[in-house]
Formats: sequence, C-alpha cells, structure tokens
Amino acid sequence: MPGVPVGDLGPFTPGRCTVCRAPIPKVEDAGPGVEKWARNLNYMNHLEKYHPQYYKWGKRYTNTLYLPFVPFLILGSASVMMKSVPLIVVAMAALGAPYVPLLLYRSKKVGEFREKWKQIGEA
Ligand SMILES: [Zn+2]
Repeated sequence: MPGVPVGDLGPFTPGRCTVCRAPIPKVEDAGPGVEKWARNLNYMNHLEKYHPQYYKWGKRYTNTLYLPFVPFLILGSASVMMKSVPLIVVAMAALGAPYVPLLLYRSKKVGEFREKWKQIGEA
C-alpha cells in the first residue's frame, strides 16, 4: 500500500523469536509503514512453521487478553448511567486486575515453551 500515511504504526514484533531466540528478519524492500506488518508476518510464519504449539497457544492467549474488557464495559456503562464515580474506579480495577495473573501466566508458559524447545527441539 504505497502512499498510505501510517508512518511508524504497525504491530509490535520482537527482534528475536520468543521461543528459540532466532533473529526475525527485516523485510528489505517493503515501503515505510508496510515494513512492520511484513516483519510481523515473517514472525507469524516463523512461529507457525517452527513452533506450531506455541503459535496455537499464543493465538488463544491473545484472545483472552480481550476478556477483561467485557466486565469493564458493563461496569463502565453502568457507572456512566448512574453517574457513580466509585463504580468507575471499580470498573478500572476490574479492567487492570486480570492482567497481572495473565502476564505472570504468559511468562510461565513462555518459559515452558523455551525449555521444551531446548530439550526436544519442538514447541
Ligand atoms: Zn523461533
């Protein structure tokens, strides 16, 4: 998509693979703005090819990251309707709180995938 002014926007892609630490190649001839997407696609292809188990798990995990928004939206709209400030605070807490165990769970799982990759060469 040449000429699309997306600039630096694009999905975050780690410099190295989360599981095997292999560098994720940059896309040389992609235009600005496209580069990050192309690189992310490279990474997704790498995961799908070399770490199918991690790839599947990662997709499911990404979906669970949206779940905390459900109670937040319900509590948030309730607090607006009732003009209740304490309820907004509760809504914010309900949004933030699940991410702590979710992130801990992620780092634990990533550690397991790395370990598995080192030992048996698949994850
Ligand atoms: Zn890898």
